[in-house]
Amino acid sequence: MGGVDVLPCGHAANAADFRGCAHLVVERPPDHYGWFTGVGLEYDRLCGECAKLDEPRSCLAVVCLGCADRVDEYSELLGWIGRPEVRHHDTAARGVWTTADCAVEPVNDRCVAALPGGWLVLTGAGLVEVDRDGARFVAPVSVTASPTEDDPHDPPRLALHTSPDGRHAAVVTDFGRYGVVLDLVTGDPVLSLDRGDYHYRQTCFPLVFPTPGVVVTATDWNRLDAFDPASGRLLTGRETSWSGEGPAPEHYLDYFHGALLADPSGRRVLDDGWVWSPFGMPVVLDVAAWLGGDAYATEHGMDLSARDCWDLPVAWVDDHTVALQPIGRYDRPPLAGVEVYDVLRGRRVGAFAGPVGRMWGHDGLLYVGTPAGLEIWAPEEGARTGVVEGFTPNAHNPRTGRFAELAGGRLRTWTPATP
Ligand SMILES: [Zn+2]
Ligand SMILES: [Zn+2]
Repeated sequence: MGGVDVLPCGHAANAADFRGCAHLVVERPPDHYGWFTGVGLEYDRLCGECAKLDEPRSCLAVVCLGCADRVDEYSELLGWIGRPEVRHHDTAARGVWTTADCAVEPVNDRCVAALPGGWLVLTGAGLVEVDRDGARFVAPVSVTASPTEDDPHDPPRLALHTSPDGRHAAVVTDFGRYGVVLDLVTGDPVLSLDRGDYHYRQTCFPLVFPTPGVVVTATDWNRLDAFDPASGRLLTGRETSWSGEGPAPEHYLDYFHGALLADPSGRRVLDDGWVWSPFGMPVVLDVAAWLGGDAYATEHGMDLSARDCWDLPVAWVDDHTVALQPIGRYDRPPLAGVEVYDVLRGRRVGAFAGPVGRMWGHDGLLYVGTPAGLEIWAPEEGARTGVVEGFTPNAHNPRTGRFAELAGGRLRTWTPATP
C-alpha cells in the first residue's frame, strides 16, 4: 500500500493540516485554547487539560482539515496561550517636519481637525484656527450638555469635525446627545444636532462631512440624515418609523449608529455601530448612492463582521479597504492587532498582530499612535515598517497626508514622504 498518508486522527492527510491534542479529535470536542505557533496568527488547538501543561508540545498531533473544522464549529475557543508573531520590518521613517510655537490648548485630543491650510482647534473659549504663522479666533461654540449619569462607560466628550473644503465644522458630544454645525466664514451656528435619547451613551456621536456641502449625522438611534450645511436643507427625506406593532416595514433598521468615517474619496462611510445583544457591527454605507436617489441606502448597508466591541480604532486604508482593531469576533477572545476588510466584497482579506492605538489610514498604509511615537504599518506585508519616534499626533489631514501634534505650547506637523 502506499500513496495515502494517514494522520494520527485516522484520516487522510491533506494540504492544510492543523495540529491539536488527541482529546479534541472526538465526535463532540470539548472547548479549547489556541496556542500560537509563532508563525503569523497560526495556532495549535489544545483541550483545557493539555493547556495547563508546562510543555504541551508533546500532546500535539497533526489532524486533518475536517477534524480541525469540527473543533472550530462545535467547541468554543476560550483563550489564547503565548503570543502571535508581530512583524517589525522597520526602516527610517522619511517625512517633512514643521515646528512652531503655539500656545493654543485643545479641550481634548479629539478637538483638533484639519483645514485646507492649517488646523482648527476647539479650546475652552471656542474655535481657533492655527498654522505655522500663528493663531486666529474663529467663533465661540455652545453645545447643550448631555445629562450625566453614574455610568462606568465612556463619559461624554467633545469632538471636532471639519468639512473637506474647510467651510464648515461640527462640535459634537461623543457618548452624548447633542452637537452643532458652524459656518467657519461667518462663525454662525447653522444646524443644531440631536440624536435622540435612546442609548446615546454607547457610541461616539455619528457625524461626518463626506464631501464639501454635505454633512451626514444621526437624527435618531437608528436613522442617519444628510443635510446641506449652507442652507440647513434636509437631503434625505424618507419614512423610517415603525410603531412596533405588526411586522416591521421593509426598510426598518434595527441598528444603533456609531462613529462615522468617510473613505478618501467621500463615496462610502464606515458606521461603527452596534446591535443587540450587544455586538459591534461595522457597516459600510454607500453615501454616493444614497445622495444620488437610493433613498434607503443607509438602511441597507453592508455589514462586515459581528464583534464583541466597538468604538475602537478604525481607518480606511484606501477607497475599498477598511482596517479594524482588534482582531476578534463576537465568539472568541480579542487579539491585539488589525483586521483588514475588502468593502466591495464585504470580506475579511487579512489580519496581523501588533497595532494598538489611535489609527489613521493614508495611501495604503496605517499610522498608529502609541506612547513611543507614530507607528507605520503596511497592511499588505502585515508588518510595521517604521516609527516616527516621540511624535504623538492628535489630528490628520486625509487630503495632504499631514499629521499635527498640538501639545505643550508647540505645533509640530509631519508629512510622510511619498514613496
Ligand atoms: Zn488535550
Ligand atoms: Zn481527521
